[in-house]
Amino acid sequence: MSNKHHLNTKLIHAGEPEERYGGAVSMPIFQSSTFEFDGETNYNDLKYIRLNNTPNHIALHKKLAALENAEDALVTSSGMAAISASLLAFLKSGDHFLAHKSLYGGTYNLITKDFTALGINYDFIDGRNPKDWLDKLKPETKLIYVETITNPLLDVLDLSAVVSFANSNNLVSLIDNTFASSVNYRPIENGFDLSLHSATKYLNGHTDIVAGAVIGSRKLVKEIRGKLNHLGGALDPNTCFLLHRGIKTLGLRMERQNYNSLQVATFLSQHPKVKQVNHPGLKINPSHSRAKDTLDGYGGMVSFEIDGSVQDADNFLANLNLFTNTASLGGVESLVTRPAQTSHSSMSNEDRLSAGIKDELIRMSIGIEDAVDLIADLDKAFDKI
Ligand code: PLP
Repeated sequence: MSNKHHLNTKLIHAGEPEERYGGAVSMPIFQSSTFEFDGETNYNDLKYIRLNNTPNHIALHKKLAALENAEDALVTSSGMAAISASLLAFLKSGDHFLAHKSLYGGTYNLITKDFTALGINYDFIDGRNPKDWLDKLKPETKLIYVETITNPLLDVLDLSAVVSFANSNNLVSLIDNTFASSVNYRPIENGFDLSLHSATKYLNGHTDIVAGAVIGSRKLVKEIRGKLNHLGGALDPNTCFLLHRGIKTLGLRMERQNYNSLQVATFLSQHPKVKQVNHPGLKINPSHSRAKDTLDGYGGMVSFEIDGSVQDADNFLANLNLFTNTASLGGVESLVTRPAQTSHSSMSNEDRLSAGIKDELIRMSIGIEDAVDLIADLDKAFDKI
């Protein structure tokens, strides 16, 4: 498989076995915990599910690396396993790192609760203000961590400034690329050291598994693989199979979700019961020109503030029919949540409000349904509040 092929071709063909196993056109599931010794000289190369190296893992690693034009990749048992193993591979007690102040709630908890207990220090930075990054830099700062499209306000930072800052200060740069997916942004091509995903979301796209991925250079992925093997966050082969199957339609799904979300965001931006809409594709959005220059698509997420109370927001959610009220995202079906109640509920009110996440904010993950039907459903729910 050549790197000259385009993304949709890679989604189907990259990483597939050179010789089909028993002629099988789809990758079979290798449901064997251990494999016969074949002269391996390194512990991590012994074929064993926990070491993430069965034929199912290897095929996925090659496919993911090809997608983002990187040397290597690693699948993990969840997005949080990818994030925790990656951070722990490069940080030890006494080290310090910088992370953008608006993060997925699970990552925020890992940093503020577990890392503090491990003696790993951090500062949250204002991603829009590079002077703040410099002010918080310390001699022991080792790493910088950001998200491609922030959750739930859907800001796009100046990612090339993050890369330059990391390079000039000798920091490992990590980006959670879940919201953009490999279709809309490829971090390694753009100078980041490591791209992380909750593969639970767009990469798989069918709301039926939990998985994660790390993509980057052979050297850095090897370090993370070693850490993951110790922590035990392997992906099981059945789930590898589902991810492998789901990822093949990533390009088609993302194209549709990029389109649908912009239709929905445009509708919301003209609705009298909406105070503010967040979507990087809207021309009025403060991130728009940066997103246009940085991304190949604006993603499938939209968030907005209803012009009313928290109770109005909850009534609105209860009156939707085509959207399911749940915290996850990135599947073929449209989902909706109120982050203050779900994904960001463990942040203190003060931290949440200072990150700009109001209680009445609603976040939607737009699926692949027909946009006109989604808009009609939203319109009907607005009429009832
Ligand atoms: N990163 C982002 C941006 C997410 O939204 C999530 C989950 O919602 C995660 C990471 C964690 O992924 P997982 O639930 O697969 O562990």
